[in-house]
Order: sequence, then structure tokens, then C-alpha cells
Amino acid sequence: MTPRGNIPRQPSKAGRQDRIARPGATQIVRPRLASKLGTQPGGKSKLQSAPKAAVSAGKPASAPKGYNPVAPERVNEILKRLDQRYPNVTCALHHNSAWELLVATILSAQCTDARVNMVTPVLFKKYPTPQAFAALQPEDLEDDIRSTGFFRNKSKSLVGAARKIVTDFGGQVPQTMDELLSIPGVARKTANVVLGTWYHIADGVVVDTHVQRISRRLELTKNEDPRKIEQDLMQVIPRDHWIGFSHQIIHHGRALCIARKPKCAECPLENICHAADKTWSTVDIHKNAKP
Ligand code: SF4
Repeated sequence: MTPRGNIPRQPSKAGRQDRIARPGATQIVRPRLASKLGTQPGGKSKLQSAPKAAVSAGKPASAPKGYNPVAPERVNEILKRLDQRYPNVTCALHHNSAWELLVATILSAQCTDARVNMVTPVLFKKYPTPQAFAALQPEDLEDDIRSTGFFRNKSKSLVGAARKIVTDFGGQVPQTMDELLSIPGVARKTANVVLGTWYHIADGVVVDTHVQRISRRLELTKNEDPRKIEQDLMQVIPRDHWIGFSHQIIHHGRALCIARKPKCAECPLENICHAADKTWSTVDIHKNAKP
């Protein structure tokens, strides 16, 4: 059954949906074809014998022999379609320097970028440099960043980070992973954001909640731990895509591949995605695809 509100697309001229006619696959029939196929619009055709699996996402059909979700051809196809759908995307956090990006990224933990972008202009007007932050007590910052949540911890991190940067790095945000990781409040995700977005250094892959969820849906990893997910992504994604991939996946996670009800019918990756919780499908869900 097609979920309400989702309209099956026209088949691609390039044959992207060829597999729907293969025995074992589930086909969603459009009204125009219904009479030819001898079924009801929105129902199943005579062409298929199986399962509700592709639509209901709960009971995967058997995996085709040789299916490898991290085969370079599949990964490259994913990257190509992401490039087409999300060209030139970058970090949504507003910033004018590495320091501002570092602050915004620390503030973005458990908070939306939109909220952070409302808070930082006022913050940077009040305290324009790392030196200005370093001169504060954490309590001095709490009211300014309260709306981003976890404001006590974030205040400590920001003042601690500023003091470290002023004391050990001459007031400049460092450009290496090891140095960044020595700064209070900075873990790999924040370090990768600063290195990739500001310095254009691909040292790793940003793994936030969107990258975590969608990498698993796309079977690029089976891990749940962000550090392990990053390692897996670094293995299968070419290095020159590390920075862009994260930005694209984060945009994809906000626009279509949302956590609770992904908009699979609108997704450019639909016919190569076999996530078990798809809301609409033109292809089998493979046994090995269940995250
Ligand atoms: S098909 Fe659905 S689950 Fe798969 S990537 Fe697209 S939106 Fe996400």
C-alpha cells in the first residue's frame, strides 16, 4: 500500500526502476497501468509474487547473491546523486572565522542550527574575540546561551576553549586534529567541522545525528558508535568527498530522510536504498539491509 500523501513517481527513462518487474519484487501500480496489468490502481500487479516487505519495511526479502552495500559502484552512485540533489551545500551555522565556527559548533550540541544562529550574533557582538571569552567566568555566559540548552556545560566549554586557544595557540584556532582535540569541549565531530568547513582539511568525516542515522539506512555502516561510523565512512567514501558528504547528508536528513518518517517517495536515492524503515519502495528490501 502506498502511504497516504506519497505519490509514486513516473519510472525513469534510464531504467532505474527496472527491477520492480523482477519476480520477488513488489510493484506499486499506477492508475494508468492498472488496466493493462489487471489490478487495481495502487495494488499489486500480476508481475510480482512477493511480499509486502518492500512497502511495509518490516520483513525483508532475501538478499540477492553478491549484493554488497559498500561496493565502490554503489557508493559512487550515492555520491553522484547527492551531488546532483545538494550541489554546493555547506555548513548551516553562521560564522565569520574559525573561532566563531568553533563556538557555534559547540553550541549546536542538542540544539538546532537555527537557534544557534539566533544566539551567536548577539554573543559575538558582546565578546568579539577568543581573548574576550577567555577573560570571562563561565557563569557570565550562561544567560547569553541559555536558549541553546545545556548552557552550564557549554559555558564551561566555551571559556575553557578560549583560554586554551589564547594560552597555547596564540589566539588562533589550530589546524590539526590532535591540537583541536586538546581543547575543552572539542571532540571529533566539532574538530571535523572546523577542519573541513573553515580550513578545508579532510581529516575525517563529521558524524552528527543525521550522518549517524542515514549512513546506517544506506548500509554504509552497521555501527552505532559515531567513532566507529566515522571509521567505516572513511573506508568506503573517497577522501575528496569526506567534507561534502557530511554537509549533503545533513541537508538530506533535514529535507527528506527525516528520522521518524523519511520521505522516500521524493528521495533521489530511493531505488538504491534498502533501509528497513522506508516509507515507500520500488525495490526489494534485502535481508542484509536491515540497520
Ligand atoms: S529512500 Fe528513504 S530511507 Fe532511503 S535514503 Fe531516501 S529518504 Fe532515506
